Amino acid sequence: MEAKVIAKSDIGAWMKGLADKCDVIAPVKDGDVSAFKKIEDFGTLSIDLPTPTVKGLREQFTPETETLFEYKLTGQQAELTSDTAAQKDRLIFGVRACDAAALKYTDAVNANCEPKDALYFAKRKQTTLVGVCCTTPAWSCFCTEIGDFLANPIMMDLYLTDIGDKYYAEALTPKGETLIGASQFQAATDADKQAAESAKQKVIAALPSPIDHAEKGKDFDWDDPMFTKLAEKCLACGACTFLCPTCHCFDIQECAQGSKGSRYRCWDTCQFEKFTLMGHGHNPRPSKNERTRQRVFHKFKYSPERYGILGCVGCGRCITACPVNIDIQRVVHKLEADK
Ligand code: SF4
Ligand code: SF4
Repeated sequence: MEAKVIAKSDIGAWMKGLADKCDVIAPVKDGDVSAFKKIEDFGTLSIDLPTPTVKGLREQFTPETETLFEYKLTGQQAELTSDTAAQKDRLIFGVRACDAAALKYTDAVNANCEPKDALYFAKRKQTTLVGVCCTTPAWSCFCTEIGDFLANPIMMDLYLTDIGDKYYAEALTPKGETLIGASQFQAATDADKQAAESAKQKVIAALPSPIDHAEKGKDFDWDDPMFTKLAEKCLACGACTFLCPTCHCFDIQECAQGSKGSRYRCWDTCQFEKFTLMGHGHNPRPSKNERTRQRVFHKFKYSPERYGILGCVGCGRCITACPVNIDIQRVVHKLEADK
């Protein structure tokens, strides 16, 4: 598909023009971290924030708390209302390649449940994604070990690569082609294309080499003694899963007030003991030993078996967030070495 360039100084004006048609969401500085927020003042837009944002795109498609429906009882009659009215279209700018790649996984999960997750797919349909190639990966990033989406991005509409005072802009979908039709974009030269390729290769060279984890994960040892050690350290705080762009588990709760109320879902995690506690009292994962194994096996063994996709994109967030330094990359390498 077509590629153009846009001057960095024109990004604000381009975004402002888009905001007339849709909500524009982009990473903004939030204390010591950067987070995706709806942009109201385009003067606050900063395109050079560190990689990655504190959270990925999960909350953009499955909010931490989301009402499924509201109800009102009148005698024996129940009136249900669900807030599935179309939201305004939105554009998310500054998406990292790993976070976009995570959508391939969450799309597969949400499409393979019965019924399909309508709330999730409504938001997916209404969202345009503009990615930016990383220039300064965090120490914990290992996306290149998982896939080649930094060089060959997936699940986004437009991909920008920093080539000095401008971005090389590759349209990946018809939506992306429409975006680069804006007046701020100019034709790209061969030199621009080469500069973008060099910029990508420079960051890739600073990151780990590819590993076929899907193949290696097939024979993980269920009884690997490492899980006992991990369980001794793990605080079961759930930070690793709440920040993970591929984690998607939720609980369903009800909020009742007299004859009316609502049913809502909220993020949950396999790292909490009660996540698998059943109504009759049995818990198939009663100890942290089983729960730490579940996180790793789900991402590196069960997901490739079920969907043909790893459940990890190597964003490194769980590594930087873990208060006791449990590092999923090292855990997986050890499991592979122990086979
Ligand atoms: S498991 Fe960790 S490194 Fe992998 S996608 Fe989730 S947060 Fe990122
Ligand atoms: S962040 Fe670390 S301590 Fe907290 S649940 Fe995850 S592995 Fe355990």
